Formats: sequence, structure tokens, C-alpha cells
Amino acid sequence: MSDKIWDVAIIGGGPAGLTAYLYARRALLEALLIEKGPIGGQVLLTDLIENYPGFPEGIPGFELIQKMQEQVEKYGLNLVQKKAIALKPEGELKEILLEDKEVVKARTVILALGAGMRKLGIPGEKELTGKGVSYCATCDGPFFKNQIVAVIGGGNTALQEALYLTKFAKKVYLIHRRDAFRATPILQQRVKENPKIEIIWNTVLKEIKGKDSVEGVVTYNRQTGEEGFLEVAGVFIFIGHEPETEWLKGVVELDEKGFILVNQNMETSLKGVYACGDCISKPFRQIINACGEGAVAALSAEKYLESSH
Ligand SMILES: Cc1cc2nc3c(=O)[nH]c(=O)nc-3n(C[C@H](O)[C@H](O)[C@H](O)COP(=O)(O)OP(=O)(O)OC[C@H]3O[C@@H](n4cnc5c(N)ncnc54)[C@H](O)[C@@H]3O)c2cc1C
Repeated sequence: MSDKIWDVAIIGGGPAGLTAYLYARRALLEALLIEKGPIGGQVLLTDLIENYPGFPEGIPGFELIQKMQEQVEKYGLNLVQKKAIALKPEGELKEILLEDKEVVKARTVILALGAGMRKLGIPGEKELTGKGVSYCATCDGPFFKNQIVAVIGGGNTALQEALYLTKFAKKVYLIHRRDAFRATPILQQRVKENPKIEIIWNTVLKEIKGKDSVEGVVTYNRQTGEEGFLEVAGVFIFIGHEPETEWLKGVVELDEKGFILVNQNMETSLKGVYACGDCISKPFRQIINACGEGAVAALSAEKYLESSH
């Protein structure tokens, strides 16, 4: 493996990386996919996807990924299941260091690293993660049958996951720090019409309480200054994303939050290195644009390779 020089090495096997891989293989490029976990990324955490075109009834996340994987496998999937920990330019080539010290050499690199869930950073959150604090309703929702849970956030993911949790929980508090949601109107309407959901506006969490598992949350109303306590068995946190790009600092240009800066061709500041999907600096993080950017990144890499011959 280490002597081989790939046309393109794609880091990250979520929708952005899989689409980039598909386009690269269809351009007859020698492509390698590097993925540290299971193929699929965040889509594996999603129960039902209702906004990806072509599936009028919606499609479960794992099924959409299965279909994407099948499609790339038709072109031969070269996969390394390891974490990439460093990237450095080596003349015309790029070298990617993997966690076990293996080195992958490629002419171009596509970064499709996605993003992790942002943390609240309050007492109790870290200690009770996995003991009632969760960032994935699909994974942990079924543990809260007939219990009371809190969902934190006001974007699409928070509302979508609050609705999903009503399948199991007897009550869902939806706690949002502002007095209006950012989520799409159709989700807002469904949430407001759902009798199991109680919306708590203008409120943030100060602490998550519990010894061996979550017992409740201390709330703070930003308008009235009042503190309160809600007895809940689970806290689901959906307050946005944080990139995992620490290892790329000084290699490609990042924005102040750590997301990768690209131009409209998905080119980063380092020639021959592209980025796409949730890891780039942009306002909306959805499957549809992750896929679109993956396609653009692969087409740009193809063009670059053609011009450098
Ligand atoms: C709960 C939830 C519900 C959602 N619902 C929807 C929805 O209904 N509709 C919608 O359009 N979007 C939805 N989204 C958002 C959507 O899932 C993301 O926008 C999309 O998955 C982004 O794709 P991506 O390929 O950029 O990143 P990801 O899906 O995050 O994939 C990135 C991959 O890169 C891998 N990786 C990262 N760093 C490294 C490394 N150093 N080495 C090797 N591999 C690495 C990760 O393991 C991961 O598999 C939802 C997200 C969540 C969390």
C-alpha cells in the first residue's frame, strides 16, 4: 500500500466522501477512501430522512447509506478503515499519515471529514454522557420508553429529533435559548401540534444533575432570570456542530471556528487539496449539499490532475 501513489485519497466516508469517491471512480481515477469508523457518517444517526430528493416517503438513514455504498462498490471500493492524523505536501504529492503510522501517498486529497456535535460545556454533561446525556436520538431514544426527556436546541436537527423521541418518551421538553426556532416551518408546525412536546423558550441549561444517571436539569430563563429544575431521565443535545480539524491547523486555512475554507470549486488553500461536506465553512449542513460539494471536489481534482500531466 505505502508504495502506491493514488490519484485521489478521500478522507471521510459520509455522504460527501462517498459522492466524491463515486465521481472520482467514474472519472477512472485511482481512488482510496479512508474512514475511521463505519461508512455513512452522521446519516447512520438519522432515523428517517425526509428531505433527500427521490424518496417521497422518506428513507431511513442506514438504508440511504446502504444504497450509496452499493453504488460506489459497483466501481470497486478501495477502503482503509483507519483514522488520518496528519497531512503534508511532499513536492507534487501529498502524504497522509494514518494512526498506525502507515503513510498514504496521493496526487490529490479530498477532505470530507464531517463534523461532531457541539457540547454545552456545563457541569454534569461530560460525566453523564452515555448515562442519560446523548447526542443521538436514533441510538438512544428507545432507552427512554415512557420516561420524560429534554431536547436542547432550536434548529432542524433538534426539532426532528424531539419529534422522533415522542415515539418512546411520554413527554419531551424542547428547551431553546431564544423565543423562535431556526428550524424549517414544517418541522415547527409538527412540533407545535404534538401534544407530547412542551416548548420552553428563552431558556438555557446551567447544569445536568444525577449520580449514576440523569435525574434532572437546572434551567435558567434568560428573560426573567429565574432558575428552575426539571425532572428528566434523558438530555438530548442538538446545538450545532464542531469540526474535527485540529490536525489540519497550519496545513489548510480554517475559519475562526475551525471549519475548512474553500472556494466554489471546493479548493482549499493548499493546491491539490479539496474539502466538502459538513467540515467546510458554510451556513447549512445537510446531506444534499454535502453530496453536491463531494461531486464538485472530485470534478475539480480530476481537472487538476488533467492539467498537471
Ligand atoms: C441526528 C441528525 C439528524 C440529521 N438529519 C438530517 C436530515 O434529515 N436531512 C439532512 O439532509 N441532513 C441531516 N443531518 C445532517 C447530515 O447528516 C450531514 O449534513 C451529513 O451527514 C454531512 O455529510 P459529510 O459526509 O460531510 O459528513 P459526515 O456524515 O459527518 O461524515 C464524515 C465522515 O468522516 C469520517 N472522518 C472524520 N475525520 C476522519 C479522519 N481524521 N480520518 C478518517 N475518517 C474521518 C467520520 O468518521 C465520518 O464517517 C442530520 C444530522 C444528525 C446528526
